[in-house]
Amino acid sequence: MLFVADSMLGKLARYLRIMGYDTIYQKSYPYQRLSELVMEGRILLTRTHSTYRLYSNSIFIDNDLVKDQLKVVDSILKLTRDRRDWFSRCLICNSSLSKADGEAVRENVPDFVFFHYPERILFCPTCKRFYWPGTHRERMLEGFKDWGF
Ligand SMILES: [Zn+2]
Repeated sequence: MLFVADSMLGKLARYLRIMGYDTIYQKSYPYQRLSELVMEGRILLTRTHSTYRLYSNSIFIDNDLVKDQLKVVDSILKLTRDRRDWFSRCLICNSSLSKADGEAVRENVPDFVFFHYPERILFCPTCKRFYWPGTHRERMLEGFKDWGF
């Protein structure tokens, strides 16, 4: 399942990326870009009812809270509960993360993580961010659990 989220659904896009879903999101889209992405086979997530009506492959999101937005998508598409693919994608640019090693890791990752979990450090090849497990991630996972994921 590939998604494209309209410009009002940035938070939902991030949460779908956390779950490993390829989700395109931009703060604004050039004219016709959304329809091109839908033509390529992406499921459109939109807060605009008139946009929703233009595409059969779309989901109308009428909720403000990301938890409720996720539940809408889940009720229609049944999102994964398999956590193996979670945190495998860059939350900022949507690229797949790769294993990180070398000097750059040392410079960009806390020492504790570097020494104890070197195998769990990932790297975004596109925007050059590093990712590793931590308390922030634990809190997010707890949130997901509370919401039934
Ligand atoms: Zn990135």
